[in-house]
Formats: sequence, C-alpha cells, structure tokens
Amino acid sequence: MTARIVLNPGRDKSLIRKHPWVFSRAIKEIQGKPERGETVEVVNNKNNFLCLAAYSPDSQITARAWSFNAKDTIDADFFEQKITKALKTRLDIIADESDAYRLIAAESDGLPGVTIDYYAGTIVAQFLSAGAEFHKANIVTALLNVFPNAPIFERSDVDVRKKEGLHPIKGWLANPQESTKVVITEHGLKIELDIEQGHKTGFYLDQRDSRYATRKYCQGKTVLNCFSYTGAFSLYAKQAGAKSITNVDISANAIALARQNHTLNGFDEKETEFVKADVFKLLRQYKEEGRKFDTIILDPPKFVENKHQLKGACRGYKDINMLAFQLLNEGGTLLSFSCSGLMEESLFQKIIADAALDANRNGIFIEKLGQAKDHPIGLAYPEGYYLKGFVVRA
Ligand code: SAH
Repeated sequence: MTARIVLNPGRDKSLIRKHPWVFSRAIKEIQGKPERGETVEVVNNKNNFLCLAAYSPDSQITARAWSFNAKDTIDADFFEQKITKALKTRLDIIADESDAYRLIAAESDGLPGVTIDYYAGTIVAQFLSAGAEFHKANIVTALLNVFPNAPIFERSDVDVRKKEGLHPIKGWLANPQESTKVVITEHGLKIELDIEQGHKTGFYLDQRDSRYATRKYCQGKTVLNCFSYTGAFSLYAKQAGAKSITNVDISANAIALARQNHTLNGFDEKETEFVKADVFKLLRQYKEEGRKFDTIILDPPKFVENKHQLKGACRGYKDINMLAFQLLNEGGTLLSFSCSGLMEESLFQKIIADAALDANRNGIFIEKLGQAKDHPIGLAYPEGYYLKGFVVRA
C-alpha cells in the first residue's frame, strides 16, 4: 500500500493552490514506512487526497508533488508525458532561434528537482531532489523514448543534494561519447561548451533572450562585458557590430573558452580584449585610469544562496553597479542582471537607482529583461522567477 502523509489542520492551502512543496512543519503524521524518494499520497487532516508526492526524509521540504491527480501513476510513462508536453512548448517558442534549450525547468514544468537541458542532440540532466533521484531510471527511459539514442549526461554534482540526503554525482547515463564538448548554435552563433566541466549543466541558456536584446545597444559601441564566462554576450555584441569589446572573468578557463568561441565564429580574437581579473578590482582600476565605455554588461554569478546573505549581496550588487555607472559614457547603456531568486525585482531596481545616485549619475530604465522563454515560471510556483535584468540609459 502507498504510504501516506497526513497534514495538520489548515496546512493544505498551498497544495490546493497547486504549489508543489510540503514542509516538515505542516505534517501531522506519516503512515507507513516510505523509502527516500518513494511516491506517497498526501492527504489533509480530513483524509482528502491532495497530491502524489516524492518523500524526502532529510529535507525541510519533506515531500514534493508529482501530481495532483489521484489516478496518476508515477512511472516512465508519466515522465514521458511531461517531457513530451514540455518539448512541444520549447519547439513552439524557440523555433529556429537555437538548437539548445532548457527542456525541463524543474518545479515550473511539474517535475520538482529535475532540470534537463538539450544541447544540439546531447541531453544533460540534473537530479536535485530525493524523488528525482529515485526515478532517475524512469526519467532516462522516458528521455530515450522521446530522443532515441541521445547521449545523456548527468550533472548532479551540486551541494544542494546534501539537503536531500544525496551525494553529488556526475557522468554518462546513456550512450556515452568520447568527448564532453558540445557545439550549439544560438541565433546563428556557434558556442562551444563542456557539459562535464562547465558551470551548472554547461551553459547559461537562461540569458539567450537578454543576449539577443543586448545587440541593439552594441552597434558601433565600446562594450564592457563583465563576468563573461563563455563570452556569449560578447559574440552577440560582435555580431551586432560593436566597435570594441572587453571581456572580463576571474577564471582562466572561462577566458580561454571565450577566446575559443570568438575564433569558432570567425571573429578575430585579436580585435577583442580578454581580461582575467576580478571585476570588483578591475572596474576600480579602470575608474582610476579614466577609462569609459558606451555599453556595460553586468551578469554576475548568484550572490545570494539564502536569506542571511541578502544584505551582503545587496552591497555587492550596489558596488558593481556604482562602478559601472562611473565608467559609463554620457548617453551610454548599462545592462545589469541578477540571477538570485531571493533578490526581488523591486529591490534590485532600487539598488541600481541607489548605485546611480552614489555615482552621481542619473538615467532612465528603458527595458526590462528576464530569463529566456524556455525557463518558464509555473503559475503556482512564483519562485521559478529568478533572473531579472534592467537596461538603463544614462
Ligand atoms: N555572462 C555569462 C554567464 C556569467 S556566469 C553568460 O552569458 O554565459 C558568472 C561568471 O562570473 C563565471 O564565469 C565566473 O567565473 C565569473 N566570476 C565570478 N566572480 C567573479 C569576479 N569577482 N570577477 C570576475 N569574474 C567573476
């Protein structure tokens, strides 16, 4: 018999609204002895069915809903249906923009803890929750039914898995290849990435729409691309006809990759500057040197992992934005991003405004940017909105 989780009175509200998480403090009783990741039935204190969920004994989120339909069975077919539905949406919205997309965006696509990216025929999957781990084989079967013979690589080498009682792990799950390097084509630009060594699953697909939007601020401009990683923003700037581009990243590997991607597209890497440096320090140095730019892109890594880090993160965001304003030519454009889910859009907007004030600059917000369309936000899962960007004309 399926094990059951019975909730305390009044604790069924979020599940009725189809938010997928059951917190430990909401639970009155667990009937049966489910194993980690096993599917359980969640009911309210009057025994009414709420959802089928994955049990995670070590996490504060004790269960994550797979389905709000009691008739569903959580098996390979179930995952195949979800994947097929998500794929259809991706093909509709990405069309010919790219041969790489986020296929499954975890909770937002109804599969908590499951992230799946498609890179020109190669699939990279991340299993972050106990339920995702438990059903790994089913998910691989489902993927192979939808994408026969596709190489599938696992990138579950992340610390958050510890909260779910799982170890970090990575490697091939199906159809192993000799190389873990993959070349994708985004808006006609070739980008090489390494699905084994790269950040997250190899690439930041979520910035695709923002990279495209950046083009219109680059033609004939001097561009500073901070936190450049694969150099993807720079490729778009180059494509749009930037006068000069300076890429900055603290990682030597990232700088090498950015250079390589320029060459891959037939751009003369000598025309572009690649600087291995700490953005915080380099921008101060540029300020002392009196260097200025027409367009500045700030796409830093996640500064906030939990609520306690928010204050420090605000200082970090304000600092780089202030420095950027100081380096911006009159009439120039700042594109400033935050990929921290805990940084709310209104707070980020205020930080940018405060940074301008400190830099003794004024400006106007001319465009709002966000995560690309293949990183949807579940209606019941507002947490799915994490990446925001503001374009400021100074
Ligand atoms: N803009 C990129 C993604 C940036 S990811 C894209 O479109 O794909 C963040 C990058 O910031 C990483 O490559 C990391 O190496 C770099 N980084 C982190 N801290 C840094 C710092 N203090 N100075 C410069 N680069 C930094």
